[in-house]
Amino acid sequence: MTSQHFSHTDSASAELSGVRLSYPKGPVVLNNLDWQLLPGQVVGLLGRNGAGKTTLLEALLGLREPDAGAVRLFGQDALALDDHARARIGYVPQHSDLFEGFTPAQLLAYFKSFYPRWNEAKVDGLMSRWDIARDQPIRKLSGGQKQRLSIIRALAHEPDLLVLDEPVASLDPAGRRDFLRELVSQVLDRGATVVFSTHILSDLERVAFNVAFLSGGRIALQAPLDELLDQVRAFTGSVTEMAGLMARLNAEALKRTPLEAGRERVLARLPAGGELPSGLAAERVSLDDLFTELT
Ligand code: ADP
Repeated sequence: MTSQHFSHTDSASAELSGVRLSYPKGPVVLNNLDWQLLPGQVVGLLGRNGAGKTTLLEALLGLREPDAGAVRLFGQDALALDDHARARIGYVPQHSDLFEGFTPAQLLAYFKSFYPRWNEAKVDGLMSRWDIARDQPIRKLSGGQKQRLSIIRALAHEPDLLVLDEPVASLDPAGRRDFLRELVSQVLDRGATVVFSTHILSDLERVAFNVAFLSGGRIALQAPLDELLDQVRAFTGSVTEMAGLMARLNAEALKRTPLEAGRERVLARLPAGGELPSGLAAERVSLDDLFTELT
């Protein structure tokens, strides 16, 4: 696994350094985790169930206090944000069953009162496009409609940092495509940062996202998806051969799997523009393979 060292920068939308977080009597979920999200990035956070995606997103938002380490949002301590910084954040939690008795129209009017910036035209457009009735109680909406409403609520004040926890889980494929387009236009229009957790890999492949793999309490790897698919290869050979090969190729070993008879399989990332010598057996890997091996 690679380690990442970030220099502190106030221009990052979010920056976590050395974050450790465990639940009382529970496991250590985040362990010396470093992560940085920059303006204009769309990042898919990938990890198995229970890897700590929700915990990480909550820590990132200052909703959970780490045992150690620091979280900064827009250069401020995430646990002591001022109102201006708070208004720059949009959050779609995994489950929100609040406001079930409100109608969507009431819910949106309520949230609008908190934000100096609120894009009514965008709200109206998405409400019709995503087919959400404004005037019936939220509890009568389907799971997918509730999720869309929650996303509209989080987009309406045009946040500079949009955090979504498994936002596509209860959307149908058409809804997911529309939603992803919306996310990307957020970034293209305003240089916002978007981070969302998912385990639906096919969603990531529709757009040139960055992907971040959460494993063992750390971000094991983050890179643009197209770059990863281009640069990562799997090699098999004797352990000594592999060490020499990695050095020769200037490749970064991401994962080594021991095989029988002193052999191993190495998943490695080649440097950008790196050439493979001809005759060398190297397999390309899919996003599925990366997910399986890195998480
Ligand atoms: P993910 O979102 O990747 O599925 P979570 O962040 O929800 O992972 O959970 C990470 C780990 O922390 C799991 O082992 C989970 O059981 C545990 N956990 C999550 N929330 C709590 C809590 N409130 N109390 C104790 N343990 C928790």
